Amino acid sequence: MLIIGIRLFFWGSQLSQAVRWAKCGYAGPFTQKKGMRFITVFFVIPVIPISGVMHLAECQRCKTRYQANASQPVLQETQIGRQS
Ligand SMILES: [Zn+2]
Repeated sequence: MLIIGIRLFFWGSQLSQAVRWAKCGYAGPFTQKKGMRFITVFFVIPVIPISGVMHLAECQRCKTRYQANASQPVLQETQIGRQS
């Protein structure tokens, strides 16, 4: 018997340049991550991807993950030094 579920997997831990987060006020590098949603068996084994790759950035302080969409560079807009 298979136990099937849906789980979001994240990978990557590359640090990017400093940004200032709108939500918590943290100013510093964020962790760049990629994530994909998979159908899993036994909760841990990914078998079928059901979403595209999502690009996310994780705040190092509050661990909030922001979606970094290529067509909507939210993160670049909050980079320190680019704000007027
Ligand atoms: Zn934060």
